[in-house]
Amino acid sequence: MTTGYRSCACSSQSTRSQEKSPNPQCHANTSRIDPYCENETWECIKESKVQKALDPLKPINEPTPADRDKFLKVVCISDTHEQLDKFKERGIPDGDILIHAGDFVNQGNSEKIEQFNQILGTLPHRTKIVVAGNHELGFDPIEKIEMRNLSDVGQGTKDGYKLLTNAHYLQENFLVVNGVKFYGASNHPLPSYPFYTARGQEMQYAWSKIPANTDVLITHTPPLGYMDTFTSNWGPERWGCKDLLTVVERIKPKFHVFGHVHEQYGVQSNGNTYFINAAQCEKNNTVGNHMPIVFYIEKKSKE
Ligand SMILES: [Zn+2]
Repeated sequence: MTTGYRSCACSSQSTRSQEKSPNPQCHANTSRIDPYCENETWECIKESKVQKALDPLKPINEPTPADRDKFLKVVCISDTHEQLDKFKERGIPDGDILIHAGDFVNQGNSEKIEQFNQILGTLPHRTKIVVAGNHELGFDPIEKIEMRNLSDVGQGTKDGYKLLTNAHYLQENFLVVNGVKFYGASNHPLPSYPFYTARGQEMQYAWSKIPANTDVLITHTPPLGYMDTFTSNWGPERWGCKDLLTVVERIKPKFHVFGHVHEQYGVQSNGNTYFINAAQCEKNNTVGNHMPIVFYIEKKSKE
């Protein structure tokens, strides 16, 4: 499993604010999609982690009918990849809040963003929260365009998030609903895409902005070890972020919603936080049987 990539000169950490960036070409013969995936790190720490798998089709924390008004019903989806219409047709449960954790388009084409926004507008949820994924090209104001995948060069819509008129778009900011704090951020450690953020110092800085009193954390990337394994030609790659896991374990949000690794759809708990990989598309963006994931969270205020 170990390829010695850690000794490669270009595996040194870079920062978004500095010019130094990884060069995936350097790792071309490994066939890894994420040259810095943290398989070995997870092997070192996994024994100390609690991971209880839960049925993703069963609503989490469902109150009794008598207590229903005291709770927000939150419906989670992610990675719909220009197929929200199909998922809508299949059935998206009603709720107070709908969360989409990124990758609603494939390359950020403005017509596709508008189409997504239009369908979003037809859904009944009172509040819709959207966080961008690595496929929302043009959404990242500080993306290093020269590092993009060749197939993505020239694609995307600058500030495309402005077209999301039917949603609250969260990028390193939060929304409070009935006293419940939802914080969203798109940073992820997969090179060559918007919102790429290098593991280590740069990621630690990005995640340090998550408020300690966050109740529901929404990211596109999973944390390390929790429904984060992508299988490439190289083998299983842990795409999750160790620094994100560290912060989640420290601040203990009640829920952490993400997507990104389509084939790892599901729910796990570590006793403090429910981890939700809400990816709707399966591998290669196919529509299968991943259904929206529903949870309830108690309101802290009336409005
Ligand atoms: Zn995706």
